[in-house]
Amino acid sequence: MFESVRARLTLWYVSVLAIVLIAFCLGVYALLSRALYARVDESLVALLEITIKSLTNDIDEGQTIEGSAQSTVAELFNPQQAIAVFDGSGQLLAENTSGEDFHPRLPDLASIPDNDVLLYEVPEKADRTDDFHRVAVRRAYVSGKRLPYIIMINQPLDPIEDELELLRRILYYTVPFALLMAGLGGWLLARKSLTPVVDMAERARRIGSENLDQQLPVLNPRDELGRLAAAFNELLARLNSAFVQQRQFMADASHELRTPLTVMHAAAGVTLKQPHRTEGEYRDAIEVLNEQTRRLSRIVDDMFVLARADTGRYPLRKATFYLNDLLEEVARAGSILATSKGVTVEVEDSPEVTFHGDEDLLRRMLLNLVHNGLRHTPSGGFVRLGLSRNQSHHLITISDTGTGIPAEAQARIFERFYRVDKSRSRSDDSERGAGLGLAIAKWIAEASAGSLELVHSGPEGTTFLVQLSTAGN
Ligand code: ADP
Repeated sequence: MFESVRARLTLWYVSVLAIVLIAFCLGVYALLSRALYARVDESLVALLEITIKSLTNDIDEGQTIEGSAQSTVAELFNPQQAIAVFDGSGQLLAENTSGEDFHPRLPDLASIPDNDVLLYEVPEKADRTDDFHRVAVRRAYVSGKRLPYIIMINQPLDPIEDELELLRRILYYTVPFALLMAGLGGWLLARKSLTPVVDMAERARRIGSENLDQQLPVLNPRDELGRLAAAFNELLARLNSAFVQQRQFMADASHELRTPLTVMHAAAGVTLKQPHRTEGEYRDAIEVLNEQTRRLSRIVDDMFVLARADTGRYPLRKATFYLNDLLEEVARAGSILATSKGVTVEVEDSPEVTFHGDEDLLRRMLLNLVHNGLRHTPSGGFVRLGLSRNQSHHLITISDTGTGIPAEAQARIFERFYRVDKSRSRSDDSERGAGLGLAIAKWIAEASAGSLELVHSGPEGTTFLVQLSTAGN
């Protein structure tokens, strides 16, 4: 039963309320009974004072000790309090009785204080423990008479006990009833407030990969449940976009892989169609197969890098190296391809700079950028590498004097599998990329605590900027 939040909430609520109610009732009961008993003591002491005054008056008026005691006792009769007046030796002079007709015995004379009141309780009957009387005793020395009076007043406590008993009964019945009602109310309230959560769980259960675009209803965006539903919807949206991206990636990847496979299939098919071919024809066919295999393995390699980058599991092998040396090395590698195209690759004067990072990955990033520049730069042009620094970053620029990237394509060039003009590159062009080069370059820059951005591109050429944090050194 206590598996449900509703039951646990109700139980907690009733338990806390029970503790508070019981503490409150005990407090009220204790305070009330103290006040009632204090009131009895006050009225006993007050009657003692009145008795003494009356005795004094009677003596002053010339009455005898016995006479004054009797007239005082008769005068002050009341049904709740019994008065007894003794002389100093404990001899009873006069008494009246309360409705109970109970005469407590005088305590030991030595225990009765002078000028102070002795207060105590005595049982009405020796065998009963519940009917008690409160007794007040004191000595009083009246108007110069040498012999003192001893005055004793008692009052039954059962009216107070009856009042307290009534209070106890009221509490015995009302507290469990209040707890029962609170438990019932708490249960209903918890049920009402948790209903949206149950609904949400039910709807969430029905959402799968095929309908991730569904959203949970947000009844009140400002309350806790509304915020939970909104957070869940954001999670769904992120999952949905990841799914869409994943599907797009799969579609683009299969498309890119299919093209070289189709070419290979066609080349092999055409060559094998005729039973006899010259050696030259076989060579040409194998050349095509070789080219397309290289292309395939490059695409698969790029996809593998990105897949590992996405899972955050690409192992960075960091070391300290000279960035300017890396630039020189990349320029030399680019020059091999550039010379055949009539393009010059050069490094502008750059200072000696050390950097701590994955040198192989940064080389791959720079080669991607230089190859892109070379691919789009016509004969006679330049691809230039530059290195400088500002306060916080090393700045590497890669600029070319190529044909540029069309303005409408510039925002998308870092997307995976995005190519500016898919038809422009012929399928048998082995240098053609799959649109992953810049995506990988950007990831490498970011994994090296830096960034890669397109600074500008137009008919006069293109410039990319890599910023690597000097703090990453
Ligand atoms: P790929 O590996 O196919 O070259 P990239 O991700 O490297 O793909 O580049 C994406 C697109 O951006 C390419 O289609 C290319 O046309 C364009 N591009 C990249 N660099 C340059 C550049 N320096 N000049 C002109 N176009 C470029």
